[in-house]
Amino acid sequence: MATATKSAAEKSSETTYRNKDAVNGEFVHVDAIDWQTMPEPFAHGGICWKLLHVSPELGAWTAYYKCPAGSYFSAHIHIGPGEYLLTKGKMEVRGGSAKGGETAYALGYGFEPSSARHDKTYFPIDSEFYMTFVGPLHWINEEDGSTVAITGWKELQDVWLQQTGQ
Ligand code: ZN
Repeated sequence: MATATKSAAEKSSETTYRNKDAVNGEFVHVDAIDWQTMPEPFAHGGICWKLLHVSPELGAWTAYYKCPAGSYFSAHIHIGPGEYLLTKGKMEVRGGSAKGGETAYALGYGFEPSSARHDKTYFPIDSEFYMTFVGPLHWINEEDGSTVAITGWKELQDVWLQQTGQ
């Protein structure tokens, strides 16, 4: 008769997913992951990253970045939205506030919508931020808007696995 009186927790643990296994929770201690260098042509000036999570089903990934003073990301368009938490320093997004964009400073949260175009994203001082991206990034030539590359969770994960020898 036990099946007639299942607790909510028991029912929850029995959740089934159509045509797939249940997704497990994860935890990683960020300090336990070694920094890797973000390669050109995407980043310049020694930006390092740690890939924390990929979500193939959602097409999303989450990373933590360390950006030395004077470093920057190349021009790109966010095909999907993204959210970030600047935990240290300062980040000039969309040209910075002096050019109609945003100058984020720690501790700062930001949301960038689908189709947001970011020409040079610049770090005037040593900075760090966490970001979850939904959908790929479309890297473009800042001058004529032509495609340089499109990187989604799979391409980012491939780079990470290659860098970390996994
Ligand atoms: Zn961006």
